[in-house]
Amino acid sequence: MERLLLIKYGEIMLKGLNRPVFEKQLERNIKRVLDGTFGYEIFKEHGRIFVAINGDASDYERAADRISRVFGIVTVAFAYRTIPDSSEAIEAAIKVAAEENKKGKTTFKVETRRPNKNFHYKSMEFNALVGEKILEAIEDLSVDVHNPDFTVYIEIRKNIYVYSRTLKAGGGIPVGSSGRGVVLLSGGIDSPVAAYMMAKRGLKLEAVYFHSHPYTTELAKEKVIDLAKILSIYCGGIRLHIVNFTEAQMTIYEKCPHEQLTIIMRRVMMRVAEEIALKNDAGALVTGESLAQVASQTLESLHVTNSAVNLPVFRPLVGMDKYEAIEIAKKIETYEISIRPYEDCCTIFVAKHPETKPRLERILESEKNIDFEGIVKKCLEDIEIILV
Ligand code: ATP
Ligand code: MG
Repeated sequence: MERLLLIKYGEIMLKGLNRPVFEKQLERNIKRVLDGTFGYEIFKEHGRIFVAINGDASDYERAADRISRVFGIVTVAFAYRTIPDSSEAIEAAIKVAAEENKKGKTTFKVETRRPNKNFHYKSMEFNALVGEKILEAIEDLSVDVHNPDFTVYIEIRKNIYVYSRTLKAGGGIPVGSSGRGVVLLSGGIDSPVAAYMMAKRGLKLEAVYFHSHPYTTELAKEKVIDLAKILSIYCGGIRLHIVNFTEAQMTIYEKCPHEQLTIIMRRVMMRVAEEIALKNDAGALVTGESLAQVASQTLESLHVTNSAVNLPVFRPLVGMDKYEAIEIAKKIETYEISIRPYEDCCTIFVAKHPETKPRLERILESEKNIDFEGIVKKCLEDIEIILV
């Protein structure tokens, strides 16, 4: 018998999609989180993916944790594989039950699935037989079919798979099966969450960060790189475009009314991100904006920001409260990085009384004082790209 991870993915959700494409993408994404860290073998069998790791139990823990962050996966189980022989399967079931019992669990049931109809026992018969053998082998266990502390699952296929402990994964759709997007990634709490949510819908993401050295420090940049590192586990690698935004910001600061700085800067950011999107075959922009969460995120300012670009802009946080975003940030482990104190570029150039209900005509009027498209072009010429 050997140890492996048994991976289940969303079969029902798959119905409308192109299944083989989906499965290939999923397999690629699983390999990506393992490559370079683990020696492994991966194989498929009828709606399941299996991964065997070269390593011990703790390597399996780490590998399972990484795999559970790959979108498209529903659960990852710690399983044993045996040849299609009942006594081998029983031995594996006893081993699984003993492992659960060690954690203080005392009641169980057995659930057999038998896609391989050549197997000698019917599912119900095998449940009873395995249950009996477990009871014989481990003293302080008893059967409870209604509310067991744990279930021993047995899947009888070409081989037999036996498992109990299962990690819940993120669900969603494999990254790369819904096209590409560009996320405007600041060092804040919200945009990493927005990236996570769109990756979950299968978008392959490029990230863009607007850096205003020396008004923003190297530490602020490091913070965004660290956020991108965490996101890259979910996103299957991420390319971070770091735009030198200092000159753009200075120009806007000198030439435009200060209460409009934030909104005009945001419009330039959107346009630059749109150009990066078009160059990289991406069809959407993603931001961490919400409605009415802060003074600058009013309906009016969202409209004015939007008007700078033609691509659709996804704002997956639009219907969320701050604490809901924080909850997700904690779950995906970006929160602790996001709350590091380094300022992002906008906080330095914020006016005392920023306009909260900007009108597009007036903003366009102010933008006549600057060469808007020229600024965008200059930004595009001064980008550092980091593969995370
Ligand atoms: P976040 O927590 O993501 O920083 P926020 O609540 O602070 O968002 P704003 O500062 O108004 O909101 O920014 C709105 C959105 O604009 C961000 O979610 C992000 O997508 C984008 N953004 C802001 N500043 C930058 C920046 N320096 N680089 C890249 N994107 C940015
Ligand atoms: Mg912010």
